[in-house]
Amino acid sequence: MAGGKVTSPTGTAPDRYVYYPGTEELGADEIRVIACGTGMPTARRSQAAAAWVAELGNGDKFIVDIGSGSMANIQSLMIPANFLTKIFLTHLHTDHWADLVSIWAGGWTAGRSVPLEVWGPSGAREDMGTKYAVEHLLKAYNWDYMTRAVTINPTPGEIKVHEFDYKGLNEVVYEENGVTFRSWPCVHTGDGPVSFALEWNGYKVVFGGDTAANVWFPEFAKGADLAIHECWMTADQMMYKYNQPAQLALRINLKFHTSAQSFGQIMNMAQPRHAVAYHFFNDDDTRYGIYEAVRENYGGPLSMATDMMVWNITRDGVTERMAVSTDNSWDVEGPSEKLAPDPTRASEYTKFTLDGSLDVDKANARWVKEFMAKTGLTAEDLERGG
Ligand SMILES: [Zn+2]
Ligand SMILES: [Zn+2]
Repeated sequence: MAGGKVTSPTGTAPDRYVYYPGTEELGADEIRVIACGTGMPTARRSQAAAAWVAELGNGDKFIVDIGSGSMANIQSLMIPANFLTKIFLTHLHTDHWADLVSIWAGGWTAGRSVPLEVWGPSGAREDMGTKYAVEHLLKAYNWDYMTRAVTINPTPGEIKVHEFDYKGLNEVVYEENGVTFRSWPCVHTGDGPVSFALEWNGYKVVFGGDTAANVWFPEFAKGADLAIHECWMTADQMMYKYNQPAQLALRINLKFHTSAQSFGQIMNMAQPRHAVAYHFFNDDDTRYGIYEAVRENYGGPLSMATDMMVWNITRDGVTERMAVSTDNSWDVEGPSEKLAPDPTRASEYTKFTLDGSLDVDKANARWVKEFMAKTGLTAEDLERGG
């Protein structure tokens, strides 16, 4: 090119080490995992609470945990609601499942045509298990259910619960379409919490539940392609930045959660292809202290996770990038047909409330007439559904 004129490019840019959702094909032998929540129970704009989306090359998609505030990140991937119906819960702290109601109702209005399905652990007692939790969640949201069931359709408002024994040691809790989920227990504030291993096509992705260091994780996560595990803020950070009393800062690192040093030991034992540390506020003044503490015991590949970090897993390797998605996401139409209102559902109104309707016929006459003419709808259609 010596002496030649260099022109400014007008074509497609080369790889920018960024993932733009919806612009990249997933290989038939590839897994993509997106962090949709990596922070703390006090969800913040930069980090929602725990949530992961896993997309497999066979088309299957799974959500593992769906903590407070994570729905906005999940929604920003603009995956049609009908493909986000399988949800695995590690445990029932709100920072791991509070947005189940958001995807339940949001996916319903977005045109999901099937029930949600939730897999989660039992507890030491019936009232501490996933089945009890979801049944009572539906009771708490009965008004929401009844009003949507009558105006849209009741089917997407159902949640099928698959509760499994939290004590299972690497037992299969899901097996379909060549995909297996196994679970094993955690040691976290009481009986019930579990970790999951997703196995497909010879790959293994491990989603660690909240836990103090336990013997099962290094054993069952051994050699995983991607091993995600909580990694707590240091005791000093908990005390001076997170405003915890010294005793709690110490205990939380050792008794309910996993200190960064413990995380290092666990990953050194498990030797995954790639380790992911999360469940901390990932700021400039916290990240490096946690990172250095991990490095006291682990020298392998490591991501310090934050929201919208994405990993692609292939035979060649595991890559870490950041996903860049729109803040202004919309529901995306899926290939399935939307359900019609259920004709057996009667209106939930009493005459008292209906009598409060203001007569706006004149104000709306022009556009309603035009819209009905354009779409072929009749006055009867306006009354169809509750
Ligand atoms: Zn927890
Ligand atoms: Zn948690």
